[in-house]
Amino acid sequence: MSVIGIDLGTQSTKIGVARNKGIDIITNEVSNRATPTLVGFGPKSRYLGEAAKTQEISNLKNTVSGFKRLVGRSFKDPDVHIEQEYNTSTLCDANGQAGVEVSYLGKKEQFTATQLVAMYLSKIKSTAAREIKLPISDVVISVPAWFTDSQRRAMLDAAEIAGLRPLRLMNDTTAIALGYGITKLDLPTAEESPRRVVFVDMGHSNYTCSVVEFRKGELNVKATTYDRHFGGRNFDKALVDHFADEFKEKFKIDIRTNPKAWARTLAAAEKLKKVLSANPVAPLSIESLMNDVDVRTVIKREDMEEMVRPLLEQLSVPLEQVLAEAKLKVEDIDSIEMVGGCTRVPIIKETISKFFGKPLSFTLNQDEAIARGCTFSCA
Ligand code: ATP
Ligand code: MG
Repeated sequence: MSVIGIDLGTQSTKIGVARNKGIDIITNEVSNRATPTLVGFGPKSRYLGEAAKTQEISNLKNTVSGFKRLVGRSFKDPDVHIEQEYNTSTLCDANGQAGVEVSYLGKKEQFTATQLVAMYLSKIKSTAAREIKLPISDVVISVPAWFTDSQRRAMLDAAEIAGLRPLRLMNDTTAIALGYGITKLDLPTAEESPRRVVFVDMGHSNYTCSVVEFRKGELNVKATTYDRHFGGRNFDKALVDHFADEFKEKFKIDIRTNPKAWARTLAAAEKLKKVLSANPVAPLSIESLMNDVDVRTVIKREDMEEMVRPLLEQLSVPLEQVLAEAKLKVEDIDSIEMVGGCTRVPIIKETISKFFGKPLSFTLNQDEAIARGCTFSCA
């Protein structure tokens, strides 16, 4: 039996295992270190992870994303309605819980978010078992700091339905801090003043900040704040909104009326965003997007920054709150550690660095720090 650590992200899931005196990240059946957090339903079978991603564009109505954010909520919860904006499948009230209605094996079926997470975790379990060649039972799973008791309970239920034994749930930023504390060998001693680190995690849908004090063998989370509706997907949506207007004017097509064209533009916008993290300009080109029209445009990094300007203005809110809650000033912070895919965006880095008046640190693995922290906690 082996224990694994799971970072069930909104966009992708990362799995850690303690092995050879260190932590390894497990690669899936197509050698990726992160597996799409997606479940798809078809006339003959179910698709989980990579397989769900492969059929996504051709089966949008029956492919479900973001179910981690639905788990343990009622359908009436206003947040569920926000999730519908990011989902191509139809969310519904399934047995009093937030769920989804899809066509599966030729029939209309409803599944609760707990069932969706359970299906997905069963895949993560088999991915891990296949790679480490041992059965998997014990797991540590990370959840956002803002998860309520009922969300946590639903996550634990889902793990049990998947045949896993959850040893505990860990808050995302606590997992990151734990990994930091274990791997840094130069922490202050008990007599010295602690090292104060701000951890910033910006993923696909969440933005979390924590202030943590470290001394050798001691970790003290002073404050955690978040914006639970702020992440890469908000940037992608802002870009697609812009392109939808541009394509209507330039190419006379309205992607807002065509879910497949919208989804293809969304995928292209996400790719564009990533290319612009490393280059000053990037092309966006989609063949036969709608009505046989090919779209082509070139975007400069400054153009993208302009398109997401209102989002950038929200960046400092959780940072101000976290310092206020911890009763600290920017000068008290020794280092700012960045994790999560979105912390690669240059303007985000610049804005946060300006807020603290010092350079940011990238000493942790941005994609895998949470999975590693969960795994450390059980190693
Ligand atoms: P969450 O933590 O919100 O539940 P997640 O853990 O799945 O989601 P991450 O894997 O941390 O999210 O980050 C994914 C996001 O980061 C996506 O929006 C993706 O487009 C974005 N991203 C990844 N790499 C880059 C890059 N090089 N430049 C810009 N954005 C990037
Ligand atoms: Mg994440």
